[in-house]
Amino acid sequence: MKEIKREKELTKSNILGKILFPSLELKKIVSELGEQISKDYKGKEILLVSVLRGGIIFLSDLIREIDLALSIDFMSISTYGINEDISGVVRITKDLEDSIEGKDVIIVEDIIDTGLTISYLLRNLRSRYPNSISICTLLNREVRRITDVDIKYVGFNIGEKYIVGYGLDYKQKFRNLESIYELNIDTVKRDIESLKKNSNF
Ligand code: 5GP
Repeated sequence: MKEIKREKELTKSNILGKILFPSLELKKIVSELGEQISKDYKGKEILLVSVLRGGIIFLSDLIREIDLALSIDFMSISTYGINEDISGVVRITKDLEDSIEGKDVIIVEDIIDTGLTISYLLRNLRSRYPNSISICTLLNREVRRITDVDIKYVGFNIGEKYIVGYGLDYKQKFRNLESIYELNIDTVKRDIESLKKNSNF
């Protein structure tokens, strides 16, 4: 009951637009992905690597849908923009706790957009001699892709609109929404304009 009330309060924000994926749809796709991974890796022990912070809600739901022995580990990265909305340089700010040598690794991402982050992660993790490495993303936005990425598991393909909820944030907020929402672009534009004014951007 408490959770439902909290989501209702947050959804009053005029920053949010319409619901893109309601929580029930998310639950269904996460369960399907978990089932597929359980089949593909049958008999193996897998390591799921999640990228902080957006990926943690998806990861925590996904692992409960996987019927295999598994472990989890986390990385945190920061990106520096080469223009307003395309991230350029990627740097690890928190590394994995354990070695991945000889392991079957699945990188679990919330969303793959330009592909720069995941390409960097792949290059970095491949150099650590895992037995295998694959990618599972809840959301895939190909329209903005600027690198080639081979994604084994995709929840949903999405268009250009910026989204929040289910781990995804806008200015660190809205991660705790159970559904995924589009942002109300007019509000966000006004917000960005006032931020620019206030910081002499
Ligand atoms: P990429 O390196 O593929 O361009 O960016 C991946 C990261 O950008 C994601 O892990 C996420 O943090 C952020 N991102 C990209 N698109 C969106 C979006 O629509 N909403 C939110 N909240 N974050 C996004």
